[in-house]
Amino acid sequence: MGTFMKIIFASVCVAFLAVKWTAPSFDADSLRGARVVVTGASTGIGEQMAYHYARFGAQIVITARREKVLQQVAEKCLSLGAQKALYIAADMANESDPNKVVDFALEKLGGLDYLVLNHIGPSPFALWDGDVEHTRWLMKVNFFSYIQMAWKAMASLEQSKGSLVIVSSLLGKMSSPFVAPYTSTKFALNGFFGALQHELAMKKSNVSISICTLGLIDTEAAMEKVRGVTNVPAYPATDAAFNIIITGATKQPELFYPWFTHFVTLSKDWFPAITNYFIQNSYNYNP
Ligand code: NDP
Repeated sequence: MGTFMKIIFASVCVAFLAVKWTAPSFDADSLRGARVVVTGASTGIGEQMAYHYARFGAQIVITARREKVLQQVAEKCLSLGAQKALYIAADMANESDPNKVVDFALEKLGGLDYLVLNHIGPSPFALWDGDVEHTRWLMKVNFFSYIQMAWKAMASLEQSKGSLVIVSSLLGKMSSPFVAPYTSTKFALNGFFGALQHELAMKKSNVSISICTLGLIDTEAAMEKVRGVTNVPAYPATDAAFNIIITGATKQPELFYPWFTHFVTLSKDWFPAITNYFIQNSYNYNP
C-alpha cells in the first residue's frame, strides 16, 4: 500500500472511531412508557419497530390501511410487553387521515414522545412510463402525509422534548433507475426535513429530527421487487428497525444503515462516473 493510501485509510479509521466515541449512549429505560406512533406498521420495518418498542415497554399507536393485520400486530405487541398497543386504520393518500391518526394518538396516549414516519405506498419497479398521476398519488402518501403529521404533532413533541423520526432511503440521496417516482418522494423528504432540522436548531426547539438512510432491507415488499434483478445484499428488517429506534432515542440527526450507505452517498459526489457505472451495472434487468 502506498503512503497516500495509508494516510487515507488511517484518516477513515480515526474519523470512524471519533464518530463512535462521541455518539450518545442508548438508555433502554428511556423508552419504558414512551408514547410512540409508528406508521406503516402492519408489515416490514414498521412492524419490526412496533415489536422492538413493545419489548422496551412503550405505549404504542400503530397505523396502516389493513385493520385486521394491525389488530394482530397490536396483540403481539401486548404479548411482548407494550404498556399499551392501539391501532387505527388510515389511508395516507386521504387528506384528513394523517391528522386523524395524530389526534387519535394524542387523545389515547395523552401526548407524544416519538412520531416515527415510515409508511410508503406501493410503486412499480419499472422504467418510467409517463404516469404522472401515480407520482402525484405517491407524493401524497410518501411525502405530504409526512409533513402534515409532523406539523400536527409538533406542539406535543415540543412539550415532551420529543423526537420525529423519518424513515428515508439511500434513494433519497442518490438517484437510481426503475424507481423514479419512489426516489423523488424520498428526495423530497430529505430536503424538507433537512430544512426543518435547521429551523428547529435555530429556534432552539426541544424537538429533534432523525433522518434514517436505509440500504436494501429484506422486507417482503422489497424482496419481491428486486429478487433476481440485483445482487445488492439485503439487510435484516429487525436490525434496521432496532437501529432506527436507537437513532430516535438518542436524538441523532442521521442514521446510515447499513454503515456503508454513508460511503456510497459520499462516493456519488467524489467519484460520480464510477458510482454511475456501478449503479447501472448492478441490475440484471434488460428494459
Ligand atoms: P413495506 O412495503 O413492507 O410496508 C409499507 C407499510 O406502509 C405497510 O405497513 C403498508 O400497510 C403501509 N401503507 C402502504 N400504503 C399505505 C397508505 N396509502 N396509507 C397508509 N399506509 C400505507 O415497506 P418497508 O418495510 O420495506 O419500508 C419501510 C420504510 O423503509 C419505507 O419508508 C421505505 O421507503 C424505507 N426503506 C425500505 C427499504 C427496503 O429495502 N425495504 C430500503 C430503503 C428504505 P397497508 O398495506 O396495510 O396499508
